[in-house]
Amino acid sequence: MKVFKFGGSSLANSTNIKKVKNIIINEINSNGKDLVVVLSAVFGITNLLFKICDNLKNNQSIDSEIKTFREKFLNIIEELLYESFKDTCKIFLEETINTITNLKNESNNLTKREERIIVAQGEIITSFIFHNFLLQEGVENLFVNALDFIKINEEREPDYEYINSVASNIFSSKSLYITQGYICRNHLGEIDNLGRGGSDYTASIIGYVLKAKEIQIWSDVSGIYNNDPRFVENTYPVNYLTFDEAAELAYFGAKVLHPSTVLPAQKSSIPVILKNTFNPFTAGTVITNLVLSEGFKAIAAKDNITIIQIKSYRMLMAYGFLRKIFETFERFKVPVDVITTSEVSVSLTIDDDTHLNEIVEELSTFANIEVIKNNTVIACVGYIPKNKPGYLQKVLTLLEKIPIRMLSYGSSDYNITLVIDTTYKKEALNKLNELFL
Ligand code: ADP
Ligand code: ASP
Ligand code: MG
Repeated sequence: MKVFKFGGSSLANSTNIKKVKNIIINEINSNGKDLVVVLSAVFGITNLLFKICDNLKNNQSIDSEIKTFREKFLNIIEELLYESFKDTCKIFLEETINTITNLKNESNNLTKREERIIVAQGEIITSFIFHNFLLQEGVENLFVNALDFIKINEEREPDYEYINSVASNIFSSKSLYITQGYICRNHLGEIDNLGRGGSDYTASIIGYVLKAKEIQIWSDVSGIYNNDPRFVENTYPVNYLTFDEAAELAYFGAKVLHPSTVLPAQKSSIPVILKNTFNPFTAGTVITNLVLSEGFKAIAAKDNITIIQIKSYRMLMAYGFLRKIFETFERFKVPVDVITTSEVSVSLTIDDDTHLNEIVEELSTFANIEVIKNNTVIACVGYIPKNKPGYLQKVLTLLEKIPIRMLSYGSSDYNITLVIDTTYKKEALNKLNELFL
């Protein structure tokens, strides 16, 4: 069994949706009907749904957004479907729109629960249309509602016990299954989601639970690139990565893969392959446990990073200093990304500023705090064993003209992480591209 996930750009319009159909048919013809297809929402739709939520929160009209939503899907329905399939999908579209607009009427203060119902509608309508399209084209498939089996616990982690027990019944035969990415239920049974870009994660969770042979993530690029193509020329897709390398790249900004995707696949060594819907026969990036070569493979960058410098002479040589600091972040459920320490100070970075003021206030009770905003984390990733000289030196030589605010090296054999002022980001990424010459 394999899991294929198609992202928003692969589903952006009827032309692209036909390409997705062809990829699925090709897989079935080559390897038989033993496939779970996970679909994201049509490109731009989740953003539009978040915009609707914002408008509702601000008591603004959503008429124009609803119009765009309706037109987008009506276009796709008109271009793809005929007869009863068309009618069925048009009715479903109106029901979906009613779900959204009825929430508007319920209250003026949109709750988190209502927001999550609204932003789930993109995947729900997209997958329904696609399921009907395949049926119309004579491709038998079973429609599975992700809300019936993808569940997260209170910690917002997949509830594998539940998913396992339900999934074995749902996916009991060799078939073609169509389901939604991103959406799930939470421990209260409410509609929830796995976070932006979370369809990749859904695919990986399903692959893990069903012991898939392979998980393929289909998008509009031929894999994970060695450097950010928006800032650097002469980039190329990396052919092979290990799970550890891919996890670092995804976490530190390579948007093509949701950071949590690697975890379930790695646990049971299921290869994850990134493929291009618009160029389906290129190899893409294959992610496995195999270490095939040494050296740098790729760079990723993440912006809007805040550095918090924590200094306390009282804490000189005292134990418990780090515990105290991290307890604060734990209380506010804010993950810390990069850490560097000296005897009396600790610098760390966060990318979620929501609770910054409260965190600073609490830390200020036992330390002096300095906050530096607008930083970029750059991760230089590959197999770069610590017992071999030269790797760190190479990075630092290339960046000799750029001030480095933090540097993290040595905690793993596959990443050197730097934090710089975002003003230097483009220059740094271009300089570091020489690592691959
Ligand atoms: P999908 O909608 O299929 O989930 P995403 O937009 O989430 O696709 O991811 C694909 C996009 O990720 C690409 O179009 C590209 O612009 C961007 N991207 C950012 N960094 C990288 C990278 N290192 N390698 C490949 N793509 C990247
Ligand atoms: N549609 C969702 C998003 O835009 C999930 C995904 O694309 O994976 O975030
Ligand atoms: Mg994505």
